[in-house]
Amino acid sequence: MKPSFRHLAIRTALEALAATTTAAGIRSKAHHSVIFTLHHVRPASGEPFDPNAHLSVTPEFLDIAIRECLACGFTPVALADLPRRLEAEPDGRFVSFTLDDGYRDNRDHAATVFRRHGVPYTIFLTKGFAQRTSTIWWETAEKAIRAIDAWAIDGRAFDCRTISGKRRAYRYTACMVEKAADECRAVEIVDAEAARSGVSPVEIVQELVMDEDELAAFAKSEPLAHFGVHTLTHRIMSKLSPDTIQQEIADCAEWIGALIGERPTTIAYPYGYDWACGIREAEAAAAAGLSVGVRTTPGKITGAPSELLLLPRVSLNGFYQQRRFVRALLSGRMMKSA
Ligand SMILES: [Zn+2]
Repeated sequence: MKPSFRHLAIRTALEALAATTTAAGIRSKAHHSVIFTLHHVRPASGEPFDPNAHLSVTPEFLDIAIRECLACGFTPVALADLPRRLEAEPDGRFVSFTLDDGYRDNRDHAATVFRRHGVPYTIFLTKGFAQRTSTIWWETAEKAIRAIDAWAIDGRAFDCRTISGKRRAYRYTACMVEKAADECRAVEIVDAEAARSGVSPVEIVQELVMDEDELAAFAKSEPLAHFGVHTLTHRIMSKLSPDTIQQEIADCAEWIGALIGERPTTIAYPYGYDWACGIREAEAAAAAGLSVGVRTTPGKITGAPSELLLLPRVSLNGFYQQRRFVRALLSGRMMKSA
């Protein structure tokens, strides 16, 4: 995917930070912790139309990122253990790795890298993806729009014979889903248009996400892997009723507990932006017995934070797969404290 102006601006800021930051400087001066967000960990696709490129890093880059964390003096800890470690050592430098959605490449590619370094990690699971009752609209739209020459959505028709046409169609589709009052209905519209184009939304979930048997076996064989709540259906929680929010969180926690044999204590709110989750969702998580919640709003964690259910995370983004950018992120400069 061609980087947008926003990505170019972020890259410029990261380059500036990297040029003035050393691992030794971070080791001697930094007293904060960082939670990293990942999604896919897999070889680069090389696709010219790759609208979700930011959600995918290579196993080689994950290895580099872990090495840089260690070089900068960060101690890797499981997210569930982070509050206890900060309580005991408020000036400590800890890093937690988290992966959203339960993609199979987490097992097939990321697990090997984490095992190599003995680094614990947390995978956030959506019950509907594992059970194939929910589809992943951004993956569906990507695959369908890549394959076809024309895309019609929400009364708009797009010429998709060129990469720029495909990008326009994807951007409109993403905007339509994120702005919809009824996300289920919007996803049905995307799924129906994809099906008309010969792309099966359910087959995409089957292809990309671990099912329940795989998850249970993986959890048993991989002590470094921890699991957290990513809700029942992966909808924008701020648009849901209080009862539905409670059900989305509590029922997912119960499902993970039964599947893995250990009740989760952590949650990543779907999408994770400020407009997608807040106090109401944190209260529902607390009521469901969860103690650590993460968003996708960037930030560093200084000392022992008072609000453990709305912690910031920093994305290890597919656009910035360079060791120096990891160092820039770890420096915590230009980042708000939680
Ligand atoms: Zn997600």
